[in-house]
Amino acid sequence: MRRGFLLIGISLLLALSIGCSKPDTSKDKIKVIVTIAPQGEFVEKIGGDKVDVSVMVPPGASPHIYEPTPNQLVEVSKAGMYVKVGTPVEFELIWLDKVLSTNRDMEMVDASAGIELARMEYKHDHEGEPAEHEEHEEEADHQQGVDPHIWLSPKNAKIMVENIYKGLISIDSENEKYYTANKEAYIKELSALDDEIKQTLSAKTNRSFMVYHPSWGYFAREYNLEQIPVEEEGKEPTAKSIAHLIQQAKENGVKVIFASPQFSTKSAEVVAKEIGGRVVLISSLERDYIANMKKVAEALSAAME
Ligand code: ZN
Repeated sequence: MRRGFLLIGISLLLALSIGCSKPDTSKDKIKVIVTIAPQGEFVEKIGGDKVDVSVMVPPGASPHIYEPTPNQLVEVSKAGMYVKVGTPVEFELIWLDKVLSTNRDMEMVDASAGIELARMEYKHDHEGEPAEHEEHEEEADHQQGVDPHIWLSPKNAKIMVENIYKGLISIDSENEKYYTANKEAYIKELSALDDEIKQTLSAKTNRSFMVYHPSWGYFAREYNLEQIPVEEEGKEPTAKSIAHLIQQAKENGVKVIFASPQFSTKSAEVVAKEIGGRVVLISSLERDYIANMKKVAEALSAAME
């Protein structure tokens, strides 16, 4: 009698375990969560087939306004590592604590560790005024004054990659050799990208460019360019500021106003029309980091003389 029960028990357990052992390729992989898509690329380049990456802010969304879904919180609860940008990106300022509360055991990587942070460059005539709270605008950036867009300089990207690499080997030292080889190969690619961008922009005598959302501060500093923002403290410029921008564009020989897919292009269109120029979209959040950065350098080069 007892033996019968035991057998039934064992066969039940077996049935259950067979039922559960469907081939699951992501099972042995380390689940890594990142805030923005370029970080997803960095993690994949180093982690290869040992990682399974999820991006919190999906393509096309702005990390300045995006809110996580309940499904994403479930994903985080299963993760082994989280890579934050570590700068005042609203998504992290507002949501990171809540996101992390679903999983206190995962490895936290601050991608910005060791990066020299710069201030957000805004030219406006009311410096020092306290920023008003407005929804769906870039707010906290400016309250803190730090430019959050560190990933848009290949030099910074290399530091981010090193930080991610350290995180991976600290939770999976068994595969250190694999991660090291991958990391070194990708660092080489980033160095080549840096050289190529320098080359692309080298012969330009007019080095100013106008852009709606000024996410290219680190890039501009790195390549000795001047970024002229259209947006003012995360808001559409006033009529007076637009008049000033038009004048500035004319003085600087600006023919192209850059805008990004995540933001309105209305005021960029207005300025472009007035100077007989055009609006060109560039993205700061593409997953394919190297290809996108090359594309941006080409677009800037084509816009400058
Ligand atoms: Zn931004």
